[in-house]
Amino acid sequence: MTFRDSQLTPPARAPGASSLPTADEAAAEPAEQAGDAVRLTDVSKVYRTGRAGLVALDGVSLTVRGGEFVCIIGASGCGKSTLLNVVAGLDRPTSGLVDTGGRRVGLMFQEPALFPWLTAGRNIEVALRARGVPKAARRAEVADLLATVRLTGFGDKRPHELSGGMRQRVALARALAQNADVLLMDEPFGSLDAMTRDLLHDELERICSDRTLTVLFVTHNVREAARLGDRVIVLSSRPGRIIAEYPAPRLGPRRIDSPDVAQLAGTLTDRLREEMGMHGY
Ligand code: ADP
Ligand code: MG
Repeated sequence: MTFRDSQLTPPARAPGASSLPTADEAAAEPAEQAGDAVRLTDVSKVYRTGRAGLVALDGVSLTVRGGEFVCIIGASGCGKSTLLNVVAGLDRPTSGLVDTGGRRVGLMFQEPALFPWLTAGRNIEVALRARGVPKAARRAEVADLLATVRLTGFGDKRPHELSGGMRQRVALARALAQNADVLLMDEPFGSLDAMTRDLLHDELERICSDRTLTVLFVTHNVREAARLGDRVIVLSSRPGRIIAEYPAPRLGPRRIDSPDVAQLAGTLTDRLREEMGMHGY
């Protein structure tokens, strides 16, 4: 999927500001050929609100390699959801390029957004049907997906009969039912208690490595970003620009209270505080 708005020229780049490809260079070498799962080149988004436009994203360039888990953090209103929406194709950038190399993209939000009148199994089946999976194969695939998110035996329950964590497991199974290579997650565990969130981090890590998923995960929780990411990207307060990037190589199994997680979380907190201080939060 590639978006381009030829009527709007991307903002000029300061000399030496970035070694990232220009929009034209990126177009010449599509993400798929380079083995990248997602590539944003000079992406800006201006919402037309009243007479004055609201700049939500300003010149964001980001390359996510296949199988990479990238976390994006930033203050509320800095453009995190906007960023995911343009990658998902739910919204178009005002300028710049978004290239997902034709990969299937699955989405998960803070609210599970399940159909309340359908059982957990049926909620997952809806995504399979939309994908064109024949009826005969759907039952087995639903059972398989329920097992993947450790909800075997709960397929007949309706959302209100499940806990918040279980509902998010169903939402995750539904996202996986789209057979996505790229998962876009917008604060998916933001409304869960710490213990449930912790468990879901383990599950997500396991599922991503079993299925070789590429993940773009938005959160404002620095611990969560440090726990999950292979890389953490920090966005500035509005308009959203990438102001820092921290690699977080996996040296072994990680937990939310691992010393390396705590250390990176501390660094991220300092960087965010500095940014928010500059904007008078
Ligand atoms: P975040 O997810 O980081 O909290 P958003 O991406 O939701 O931030 O929003 C970034 C900015 O763009 C905010 O100021 C928000 O009010 C504004 N915004 C988001 N969506 C729209 C829209 N559809 N129309 C107008 N303004 C919007
Ligand atoms: Mg948001």
